[in-house]
Amino acid sequence: MALVLRLLRGAISQHASIHLARPETLVFLSDRQKGLIEGVDIVFPDNPHGYCLRHLYDNLHKKFKHKDLQPLLYKAAKSPTVQEFDVAILEMKKVDNDCVEWLLATADKNHWAEDCFPGRRYGHFTSNIAESINSFLLTARKLPVFSMMEFIRGELTQWFHERSAKGGAEHALVVKSVALDIEVSVQNQAHRYRYQRSTDAIWEVRSQTNIPDELRGSYIVNIDQHTCDCHRWQTSGVPCAHALAILLHLRKDPYLFVEPCFYSAAIKAHILYQFSNPRSNRMDATSHR
Ligand SMILES: [Zn+2]
Repeated sequence: MALVLRLLRGAISQHASIHLARPETLVFLSDRQKGLIEGVDIVFPDNPHGYCLRHLYDNLHKKFKHKDLQPLLYKAAKSPTVQEFDVAILEMKKVDNDCVEWLLATADKNHWAEDCFPGRRYGHFTSNIAESINSFLLTARKLPVFSMMEFIRGELTQWFHERSAKGGAEHALVVKSVALDIEVSVQNQAHRYRYQRSTDAIWEVRSQTNIPDELRGSYIVNIDQHTCDCHRWQTSGVPCAHALAILLHLRKDPYLFVEPCFYSAAIKAHILYQFSNPRSNRMDATSHR
């Protein structure tokens, strides 16, 4: 496994070296396979390594069987603050204390709990996105090497074409799912906060006790640095309800405070990338002689 990871590091170094210079931008999300845990540690020591929650729960379920453990594990993992993580873990302990002891001893929470994860997963808590590639690789890996590479290139070209068509239908500034998140937060929460300006950029947002999921009375929002001490803005890349309250008050467009990777134009630019056919390149090179 370390050999494959070294080859991967070489390819990244050659084609996308910025992800090695800024290691927080390249996050590994794996099934916790033993070779991967050690290999990523050795070859990519500075890059965050997340553990797939689905695989983590499968391992947990082999030892501890209770219907409430799965939602509580996901609740703990997705908690953006240590306070919310502790609340979820306490609920898990009430269901099965041994399960929590096993969980924390088996998988370091820095690899799966959002409140202390050092990178950004943008809502990806499982390796499902890789499993869909894995499913067509089952066919590809039975082929001779060159046929395998051609098969993979053909599949990825098809994927990119389909996503290109889907992306072409998006006309909003940000993708639909993010626009919907913002709309729901504005409708359900943002209008219900009180706030006080500290500086032009820094605001204190006060919560009311009847707002669901609010564990604290006040939150500090920095609209210049795109942070809130509820941590949701930093971890998701989308302004949290506290930040939205301030942005609406300042009559600023919330979409302009979303991470650029969620802009429809940025996604289109990536998915419209064309896979070149190596044979056509060779023919071009020959024809220019
Ligand atoms: Zn917040």
